[in-house]
Amino acid sequence: TISMAIIDKTGHIAVGTSTNGATFKVPGRVGDGPIAGSAAYADDEVGACGATGDGDIMMRFLPCYQVVESMRQGMEPRHAAADAISRIARKYPDFIGAVFALNKNGVHAGACHGWTYQYSVRNSSMNDVEVFSVAPS
Ligand code: ASP
Repeated sequence: TISMAIIDKTGHIAVGTSTNGATFKVPGRVGDGPIAGSAAYADDEVGACGATGDGDIMMRFLPCYQVVESMRQGMEPRHAAADAISRIARKYPDFIGAVFALNKNGVHAGACHGWTYQYSVRNSSMNDVEVFSVAPS
């Protein structure tokens, strides 16, 4: 799965996500990709979040909605991301998944459970993409 968030020159924020290929390809499965707030969520006033991992578990928690709403309440992206993942992991200790959080100022962070998560960033002051690795919580 690829989730991607963008802040444009005017401050408009967009997020999108693909859905999984082989692993969860069960006929008729919807998955978390099309569920608003589960695999992706954005609000120009706050920021954005994208997710990857076991969508059938993640969709029960709307982690991306949770991250954006936590940032709206003033949480830093890293705390908002860690909080959303821990809410899932408390109920599903074997869960594998991750989120990135991006606030409207461009501050970003990731959190994950059950694997090491990598996400990449590029902004207008960078010449290339930088890859960030997040250790599992
Ligand atoms: N979340 C995706 C799904 O459950 C899988 C993934 O992120 O790789 O379809």
